[in-house]
Amino acid sequence: MAKYTGSDCRLCRREGTKLFLKGDRCYSPKCALEHRKGGITPPGQHGLSRKKVSGYGVQLREKQKTKRIYGILEKQFHKYYEKADKMRGVTGENMLILIERRLDNVVYRMGIGASRAQSRQMVNHSLITVNGKTVNIPSYLVKVGDVIAVKENKKERVPFAELAASKENTMPKWLEFTNSTLTGKVLALPMREDIDLNIAEHLIVELYSK
Ligand code: SF4
Repeated sequence: MAKYTGSDCRLCRREGTKLFLKGDRCYSPKCALEHRKGGITPPGQHGLSRKKVSGYGVQLREKQKTKRIYGILEKQFHKYYEKADKMRGVTGENMLILIERRLDNVVYRMGIGASRAQSRQMVNHSLITVNGKTVNIPSYLVKVGDVIAVKENKKERVPFAELAASKENTMPKWLEFTNSTLTGKVLALPMREDIDLNIAEHLIVELYSK
């Protein structure tokens, strides 16, 4: 699948739910799904006339929704499934946990980036360090004890300086982050219940295991 370059909000309409792709805007009344007259409808001229979806269609939509939330393309997404399938435990949960451990997601969860897309850009642009070394690979999987920080000589930049001055930050319990030092730590690996996303991962496993 090629990289999608269209409107983020259109993807939310397609999936019929908020995918939180645009940072603060997603939590504000400016969100395109908050003020749509007539409720959420699929985009396009024939959006409303689409027929009832089949079981396969439901599984496909769940996979597309998850890929879009995390901003992952098909090939890499399928690799997470293959890796999870070889692990002990529940494949769907393992897959989500692997994806949740991506460095770009962790930077977002720590509140360093306002969205996963912005966080990925920060990693790509070598603004983030792991255990003191620059890591510019968004798919890097964090481990327990990893120290994630904004690069020392970039801390004065606008989004980081604002974050350092603010007191607000909430994150899942498997992570910690100190605004004043722009440094955080992975306290534990995430559990399924730590991932606050409405994803039915078993549907994705059913789709891939056909
Ligand atoms: Fe989706 Fe965010 Fe756009 Fe709302 S503002 S439709 S949550 S991308």
